[in-house]
Amino acid sequence: MPDKHEPHDDHHHDHHHDHHGHGSELSEMQLRVRALETVLTEKGYVDPASLDRIVEAYETRIGPHIGARVVARAWADPAFKQKLLEDASRAIETMGLKQKVGDHLVAVENTPTTHNMIVCTLCSCYPWDVLGLPPVWYKSTPYRSRSVKEPRTVLADFGVTLPADTTIRVWDSTAETRFIVLPMRPDGTDGWSEERLAALVTRDSMIGTGLAKTAAEANAGAGA
Ligand code: FE
Repeated sequence: MPDKHEPHDDHHHDHHHDHHGHGSELSEMQLRVRALETVLTEKGYVDPASLDRIVEAYETRIGPHIGARVVARAWADPAFKQKLLEDASRAIETMGLKQKVGDHLVAVENTPTTHNMIVCTLCSCYPWDVLGLPPVWYKSTPYRSRSVKEPRTVLADFGVTLPADTTIRVWDSTAETRFIVLPMRPDGTDGWSEERLAALVTRDSMIGTGLAKTAAEANAGAGA
């Protein structure tokens, strides 16, 4: 099950043992997971088909397109946006995109004066339910440590330059509380359908390491 870990167990990520296997196709982590799955299956605790379905869901069906639809709805519908900011888990459940948004999800809104970023400084907690699998860099030690100390530099590394007087707020995720950034709606998108708006919402814009695409970028991407 993704990310239901005890946070402190994740520190071995730092040691990079995984990449020193000699002659093995599988990393140490993959071997451990396989061994654990075998034991649990043999003892009748888990059904391998169920595990496969969970993995498949996160690889194919659950992804940032879900978060993008949530953001587009919030841009298009002020009442929904208010509900999202009050209780994101519950608001998203009312959209019928997910039967249950498992963790306490908090939406944080970007404005002209405040930019939000999410990180898990301890390990890799991430809003799986709405963004799917986390990008590799999200779990990296540089991202986890530098986002808090020098967020503006990290944003620059991601190609995002904000006005000097913009406040940057960094939200530290935990196993209990996850965050999703509600990016600013791009100019020139008045009257757009939710579907068209959703195409502007990138994964990184919902982590805060990017901005939503501009209307011009969207039109270029659509070949218009
Ligand atoms: Fe974590």
